[in-house]
Amino acid sequence: MSNAVRSPGLIQCCAAATGLVRGMVRPRPVDERFLRSITDAGLPDPNRTVRVTALDQAPRSVPTAMVVEGTFQPRRITNALTTFVIEHPEATFLVDPSYCTDAEARAIAQLPTALRGVVRPPVETVPTVTALSLRPNLPAPDFALPTHAHWDHVCGLLDLPGLPVQLHRPEHEWISAGPTAPVGGVRDALLDRPIVEFDLDGPPVLTFTRSRDLFGDGSIVLVDLAGHTPGSIGILAHTERGWVLLAGDAAWHELQVEKIRQKSSFPGNFVDENHDETFKTLHRLHLARHFAAVIPTHDHEAALRLSHATAAR
Ligand SMILES: [Zn+2]
Repeated sequence: MSNAVRSPGLIQCCAAATGLVRGMVRPRPVDERFLRSITDAGLPDPNRTVRVTALDQAPRSVPTAMVVEGTFQPRRITNALTTFVIEHPEATFLVDPSYCTDAEARAIAQLPTALRGVVRPPVETVPTVTALSLRPNLPAPDFALPTHAHWDHVCGLLDLPGLPVQLHRPEHEWISAGPTAPVGGVRDALLDRPIVEFDLDGPPVLTFTRSRDLFGDGSIVLVDLAGHTPGSIGILAHTERGWVLLAGDAAWHELQVEKIRQKSSFPGNFVDENHDETFKTLHRLHLARHFAAVIPTHDHEAALRLSHATAAR
């Protein structure tokens, strides 16, 4: 695919602005029939627990209507480029190593011009390697497991040379295909390190159709959240306080999950690869939230609550 196709231009931005106004007035309605068709396959019954920690990150305040379609209350929410650390008895790993030092030159410069101003985080944003150094009691990570390969979920790897990465096979194929990376993808972070591909070849879990039991003990289960990118995954983690579901960018904020609302069309139109599939995944998350605390990676308030997360099971 050519650069011209992959980079949003003026016409696309105008179309997105039109869509933003339409979405504000009339958000995409819930697909009640699809919602009723979703079945709950239940959760595993593991006898081990893991610990999930959200590393420190500087939040950014944004108007809610710029994130959640047709939503004006509260007027503003906070988002952040959070990285999570999961401690399992057999290994410690990073979910979404989000930010690198000198990100402007190493990552943001590779994004389409029209997106740079929108996605550029505040200057106080903490690189993943720095956030890790602020938590000396955490074990050193054995590998990283990005929910997907967008730049703000992998570029922290640039400061963690040699750290192996586990990546969903369709996501790896998507980010690697063609002469340039898809919008928001940064390939440099995945170079010169071991990449272990995996498939979601396990049974349905909760409201999701495919899974992978990462350690074979049911304590960490990867589930299919395709739509935002072709290989987006969620990470279901069995903690002492209940189940947590790290949901990547399937939603940017928990209000989307609660209300089944799409991302606002700009920049949402540019970052969701498949809008219909993303919307369906949102329906699945909406039902799953009764059994697991759903944490979108960029939802700062949700990440802060992680330390006292509660879930029904
Ligand atoms: Zn993303």
